[in-house]
Amino acid sequence: MGKSKTDIDILPIPTKCRYCGSNVVFTSNSEIYGREYGNGKCYLCRNCRAFVGVHTDTLIPLGTLANDELRKARNKAHNEFDKLWKGHTRIMKRNDAYYWLSKKMNIPKEKTHIAMFEIEQCNKVIEFVNEKLKS
Ligand SMILES: [Zn+2]
Repeated sequence: MGKSKTDIDILPIPTKCRYCGSNVVFTSNSEIYGREYGNGKCYLCRNCRAFVGVHTDTLIPLGTLANDELRKARNKAHNEFDKLWKGHTRIMKRNDAYYWLSKKMNIPKEKTHIAMFEIEQCNKVIEFVNEKLKS
């Protein structure tokens, strides 16, 4: 995902876990991965292990706090979505792909971020992309 101002303005810092209600801490992602990975930081619920990464050198979360199931769904949706604008399956520009997705999902483009999507929305992304790539 890009890091334009409109991307990173929209998400509040998580303080309470949306799954279990425990406090969320800003911490090293070595607590999750065993060593620091990527930009090294995340928001983590130490009770249920839901977490989300941050934009590099900021306190701004990449999306909403996610548990294991939701992270898997988002990763899959992202992999599928990226086929629209990357690699040998590429059929449009990245920005056009996000615009297309926002129309399909019926949400504003500035809110079209897979890191903010729930499982049902991730499943829709996968379905829409597969249809589009077949057409
Ligand atoms: Zn939790």
